Amino acid sequence: MDTTDLQAKLQQISLSDQNVDPALTTETYTHKPKGSLSAAISITGLGTSTNQPNRLKLPLGKLAASNVLKGANASITKVTAVSVQDGQKERIAATTTTTSTIRISEATDRPEIPLFSPNRKWNLGQFEIGRPLGKGKFGRVYLAKEKATGFVCALKVLHKSELQIGSGVEKQVRREIEIQSNLAHPNVLRLFGHFHDTKRIFLVIEFAAHGELYKALRKVHRFPEYRAAQYIAQMASALKYLHKKHIIHRDIKPENILVGVHGEIKISDFGWSVHTPGNRRKTFCGTLDYLPPEMLKGGGDGYYNEKVDLWSLGVLAYEFLVGEAPFEDTQVMTQKRITRCDMTIPPYVSREAKDLIQRLLVLDPEKRISLEEVQKHPWIVKYCETGERAANRAANKSKSSSEDE
Ligand code: AMP
Repeated sequence: MDTTDLQAKLQQISLSDQNVDPALTTETYTHKPKGSLSAAISITGLGTSTNQPNRLKLPLGKLAASNVLKGANASITKVTAVSVQDGQKERIAATTTTTSTIRISEATDRPEIPLFSPNRKWNLGQFEIGRPLGKGKFGRVYLAKEKATGFVCALKVLHKSELQIGSGVEKQVRREIEIQSNLAHPNVLRLFGHFHDTKRIFLVIEFAAHGELYKALRKVHRFPEYRAAQYIAQMASALKYLHKKHIIHRDIKPENILVGVHGEIKISDFGWSVHTPGNRRKTFCGTLDYLPPEMLKGGGDGYYNEKVDLWSLGVLAYEFLVGEAPFEDTQVMTQKRITRCDMTIPPYVSREAKDLIQRLLVLDPEKRISLEEVQKHPWIVKYCETGERAANRAANKSKSSSEDE
């Protein structure tokens, strides 16, 4: 399908909705349906007895991560990126048929990005639309290129008519945009901007060239330890950044993680995140397999803090290494097992990895290992030699090779 066809198709997607609340025309909304708690509750009926496993599985027939660029718009020929270290500059070069190379972003915590200034006004005409990247409950995501600069991004198209003004979905969408547009970290999917027309809302998002982590995991069943450790290190870095900004993600799971052009992970889906300057929340959200015990408890004060993300990080580490979540069972049993931390780590998991999982999956949130400690944990250090140690190693290597000469 060429660009003209896609553009025409995109225009046709409009659904009739001329009675939209004016508030909707000044804000932007998004929704993440797959496996989020809204779906988990309505589909699985939390608290009711069923023999169905509670994990909401994604259909595997989505786009193959490795194919993301294959069928792209003819003029989007290559996307490359360098450096994804925490706090360092991330540069992405989009090579187009005119072979122009454009530096487009700095993944530092700077208030302004040269190309994507928060004050910039966008419209659909500024983009060339490429192939569809995927489909969510309320819209589709397309590969896109900003015509003037050749900047390659993803464009999420949502239909206002499907967002049910005043509904929980609308709030979720608002929250996602408000939170995500203020974030800039190499392991957090960037939301560059948004715009709308009468019927649709468009989100300009960072393009994650290798697609969904969930799919990558399902393909190999479980990740080798080095890969799992590197992902957990990146997650720890991203969560540290979020928590410093008083943001609790609350919905950490493989389905909400995308993979960038260099294999680096990008946390997405801030639909269930909260900005908590007071640090304690009482709302119940998240996905059952990943829910921490303090969010399941019927008794107690029902409050929780950012330590919920640490529990989910432990579940994630387990799932990366074992191929399934530690408490995966029927709904009722999953809840029971979470509240007792009833799980078994298979013997093929290394001693260090087991130790980290056990320090994260601790019933008392205050006794969970901190993100700083995660970053220094022997399992992480073993596989993620970065910073000073890596620099020393590189320096020693070049020293010995120059001595050899
Ligand atoms: P969502 O509506 O956010 O769930 O997106 C639907 C699907 O589109 C996802 O499951 C991904 O396969 C794909 N997708 C969404 N955002 C991006 C992105 N920024 N880069 C690449 N693929 C994406």
